[in-house]
Amino acid sequence: MAKIAMKNPIVEMDGDEMTRVLWQWIKEDLILPYVDLKTEYYDLGLVNRDKTDDKVTSDAANANKKYKVGVKCATITPNAQRVEEYKLKQMWKSPNGTIRRILDGTVFRAPILAKGITPYIPGWKKPIVLARHAYGDVYSGVETRTRQGEKAYLVVEDEQGNVREKLLIQDFKNSDGIVQSVHNLDKSIESFARSCFNYALDVKMPLWFATKDTISKKYDHHFKDIFAEIFEREYKEKFAAAGIEYMYTLIDDAVARVVRSEGGILWACKNYDGDVMSDMVATAYGSLGLMTSVLVSPDGNYEFEAAHGTVTRHYYKHLKGEETSTNSVATIFAWTGALAKRGELDDIPALVEFAKKLERATVQTIEEGEMTGDLISLFHADGITPKKLSSREFLLAVKKRLEA
Ligand code: NAP
Ligand code: MG
Repeated sequence: MAKIAMKNPIVEMDGDEMTRVLWQWIKEDLILPYVDLKTEYYDLGLVNRDKTDDKVTSDAANANKKYKVGVKCATITPNAQRVEEYKLKQMWKSPNGTIRRILDGTVFRAPILAKGITPYIPGWKKPIVLARHAYGDVYSGVETRTRQGEKAYLVVEDEQGNVREKLLIQDFKNSDGIVQSVHNLDKSIESFARSCFNYALDVKMPLWFATKDTISKKYDHHFKDIFAEIFEREYKEKFAAAGIEYMYTLIDDAVARVVRSEGGILWACKNYDGDVMSDMVATAYGSLGLMTSVLVSPDGNYEFEAAHGTVTRHYYKHLKGEETSTNSVATIFAWTGALAKRGELDDIPALVEFAKKLERATVQTIEEGEMTGDLISLFHADGITPKKLSSREFLLAVKKRLEA
């Protein structure tokens, strides 16, 4: 059988530990035999990031901007212990953070559904995709303790240092206390909004956005207004043509509606809501090993990855020559996401079709009772006793179905 030809490359970002091992096997077993794979390879493994003074990470992100489509393996974000372990020159920043800053994107996370793996919320029949704004709010907040008798103000100065506004936050006359200030940028909120609208059109899902604008009449209300203005101006007609809706509501109402829904929604969340709700949604659907993640930028760059880390504990077993049973599904889906997007942008239907077939073969393998250890206790299907496979055996079980 002739291999599928590609036109433009995918930016391939290799990573660390167990996921680096899976990366190689996925390519060998499931991609290279069928696709004449064209990639521009960047080794984001910690050893090479250190060797290149982390230049490889920004080079990869810039290549992702150039070629539009990238796929990234999980990488170590170094801490003090990793600096010691890898004898690093310095504690390099999170590669995901660096890539996000360069691409200016929003992170979309979606569960991979398989029959037999039942969500903890049984009404959820379709995926709920979560879009998390990844800039500002409490993540770049400024906070301090205050003492009884002090007053705290919010002060805004112009470029010359003249006070334009001074608002009393609280007179702490009766008690010690705490204060916090947060900010966001119109530019960042605008790009968040466009990423969400574009993604909704891409996957043809209705978009829900929610904040607490009844309480936060300036801050959260501004998010609401920016979304509304951009929708009216740029997306209303496109949404109508695609037959999907944009709905704004309050965050507490959104939570209640999401739980009652059958899924099939793109849920846009402010940074903190997205942090909390993505863990809730991922857990409720079953496992982090069944969660895809894609960074989408407003100018149409896509970076696909798995939502989990490098699975360090399994890697050390692997190094000792012991058998591992690490879930490769999210990493396979990172590859299929990138291949399908490449096929779509370059007008190669066979590549899109191949990616869909590989996804179906992967899900089918689980549905037929063959899976990695993390899924065994989650699997319930009449007449099927789930069978635990090793990391490599699972990939070969997928390959068998792909070829059939
Ligand atoms: P992790 O790699 O996600 O693993 C935490 C635990 O979750 C594992 O020990 C394993 O549990 C389970 N698990 C996660 N993914 C799994 C999979 N695919 N198959 C089976 N089990 C899976 O998180 P971590 O241990 O906190 O972090 C390890 C390294 O990953 C860190 O250096 C961190 O910086 C990095 N990290 C990278 C990314 C990224 O690049 N996107 C994201 C998060 C973390 P059991 O041990 O119980 O089997
Ligand atoms: Mg979280």
